[in-house]
Amino acid sequence: MKKILRLPAIDGELGWYETSPLTGRSSARRLKGRHRFDVLIVGAGFSGLSVAGRLAEHWPDSRIALVDALRVGQGTSGRNAGFIIDLPHNLDANADPEQDKKIHRLNRFAIDRLDRLRRQHHIDCAWQKAGKYLAAHEADNLRHIDGFTHTLNALNTPYEVLEGHALRQRLGTEYYRKAVYTPNNILMNPAALAQGVAQALPSNVTLFENSPVTGMEFGSPHRARFLGGEIEAKTLVLSTNSFGEEFGLFQHRLAPVFTYASLTRPMSENQAAHHFPDIAPWGLTSAHPAGTTVRLTPDRRIFIRNSFNFNTSLRTGQAELERAWQQHKTSFSARFPMLDGLDFEYTWGGMLCMTLNHQSVFQQSTDNLYALSGMNGVGVAKGTYLGYYLAEWIAGHHSSELDFIRQSNRPSWVPPDPLRAVGARIRLRYESGKAGGEI
Ligand SMILES: Cc1cc2nc3c(=O)[nH]c(=O)nc-3n(C[C@H](O)[C@H](O)[C@H](O)COP(=O)(O)OP(=O)(O)OC[C@H]3O[C@@H](n4cnc5c(N)ncnc54)[C@H](O)[C@@H]3O)c2cc1C
Repeated sequence: MKKILRLPAIDGELGWYETSPLTGRSSARRLKGRHRFDVLIVGAGFSGLSVAGRLAEHWPDSRIALVDALRVGQGTSGRNAGFIIDLPHNLDANADPEQDKKIHRLNRFAIDRLDRLRRQHHIDCAWQKAGKYLAAHEADNLRHIDGFTHTLNALNTPYEVLEGHALRQRLGTEYYRKAVYTPNNILMNPAALAQGVAQALPSNVTLFENSPVTGMEFGSPHRARFLGGEIEAKTLVLSTNSFGEEFGLFQHRLAPVFTYASLTRPMSENQAAHHFPDIAPWGLTSAHPAGTTVRLTPDRRIFIRNSFNFNTSLRTGQAELERAWQQHKTSFSARFPMLDGLDFEYTWGGMLCMTLNHQSVFQQSTDNLYALSGMNGVGVAKGTYLGYYLAEWIAGHHSSELDFIRQSNRPSWVPPDPLRAVGARIRLRYESGKAGGEI
């Protein structure tokens, strides 16, 4: 039995989960006692939810267990910035345009599937087709904006370039020199969306929350151990993101990187009317990869995400949260000096599960053992479509999309620790140093 020692933790004050209208509406069912299922899926983030939903559609008579160490919405899927990005999320205009087009189509597919679920089940997650700004503060980073417009031209997708007064009127801050706006990105509360998707799962899926897997025996059947319980299942899917390493399946492929987010209290109606007159909620990512993500939310809060930290324990400590909070305050004040006194109500950390070549783990390890991981910071759309197509694969449904995904997801080798940790820390420090005012 493989012992699972590093387990997910809460890592701060989970702003989206705390403010989700779905939190507190249902109680968690813990895994206790011995159970037998046809399929066990470990990890109920967007990836695992998607595998479960699609597999249940294919196999309505099978018994599927979906388990998570935390409540749905408390894991990384509920801690992110809440962008469902339709476009290939890179700043590299030299990326293969054909590859980009396929990824664009898959992202659109994921957005449509989530949108359909949201409408059918009336999921209250502040879903908005608000678009996205990719913005630069530093003159040095304007070239990234231009590079991105080349990618957009190759994709033949609409966009708008904004500068100066026009940009200020859209954002309510004059911090940015230039931005490119793309209209089809979705903004939402990610914890609420994950909770809603979980509640909408077909009835042959049983969800167990607050149920960490503490041991795993791969075989026929597979056996997962819990505190006071066990599940035996013929088919096993691991959708545990950075924690996938713990199960010993894909060593030397992942680089788990913590990043941090804060959410302010809602500003007063007066503040909103005065400083953001007629300004719709918006979301912005930085032209520099180490820069700050910012949102103005529908409930008049400001969201800030930046700072990175490589932490092999897969948990974040109080000192790291404190450092991130300080940086968030600095970034906030630089962009919104007029909102002086608007405090952060929540600050938290979460893990980006990176791979060196930005390709994900999408694999069948042995008969009836599947894994997906390494969403590279865009897991809402990517986890949703990879999860869907992993279910297609398990159910034996072949398609050109599945072939493309299988061929294009081969993450390259990452050296073991301590080399990995040293390399990652040097790279993160270098990128942060170069980002300057984008942070
Ligand atoms: C601050 C931040 C901002 C981000 N912003 C965005 C964004 O705007 N848009 C976007 O698309 N992506 C964003 N990301 C990335 C995105 O959140 C991830 O790519 C996504 O959550 C990956 O989904 P997943 O289902 O693969 O993994 P996860 O969401 O990590 O789900 C894995 C689940 O496995 C569970 N688990 C792990 N080990 C065990 C165990 N032993 N037993 C039981 N359960 C276990 C965990 O509790 C977890 O819930 C952001 C990430 C962070 C941290």
